[in-house]
Amino acid sequence: MDCVFCNIVSWKTPSQRVYEDDSFIAFLDINPVNFGHTLIIPREHYANFTETPNEVLCDMTVLAKKIAPAVLEAMSAPAYNVTFNVGTEAGQAVHHVHMHIIPRYADDGHKLWHGRSGYAEGEMGSTAKKIKEKIRNK
Ligand code: 5GP
Ligand code: ZN
Repeated sequence: MDCVFCNIVSWKTPSQRVYEDDSFIAFLDINPVNFGHTLIIPREHYANFTETPNEVLCDMTVLAKKIAPAVLEAMSAPAYNVTFNVGTEAGQAVHHVHMHIIPRYADDGHKLWHGRSGYAEGEMGSTAKKIKEKIRNK
């Protein structure tokens, strides 16, 4: 399988690595939202967040708590977004699970979640009910 991030793991594709250990690599995103935008990936290939084993996600999250503050300090950023895009429609272009750490600044122009809408009367309750039922069946 030809996977962009597996190629980064194997050094077939060069990257600017900022961290690596036996299980994970963190490297700079080639098209950063802001400079310092970092991706954390497991060396092992999993297609997305949902497909990734719990232990791997837990370790990845703990690692993000180490890397994100370092990115902030290095980039003199006051804030950051941590994101997993899951599925093409949500913007996932590379189907090897990755966590985005994106340094953010006041007025950097990246407005999240454009086009939000409000619920009509009763719609919020019925929506919550639908989701609760699905969670109960998991
Ligand atoms: P996604 O949209 O799948 O959540 O994010 C994939 C990210 O990977 C994008 O932000 C994109 O810029 C980055 N990316 C894609 N190909 C490469 C690459 O070859 N090298 C690096 N460093 N980043 C890449
Ligand atoms: Zn891969």
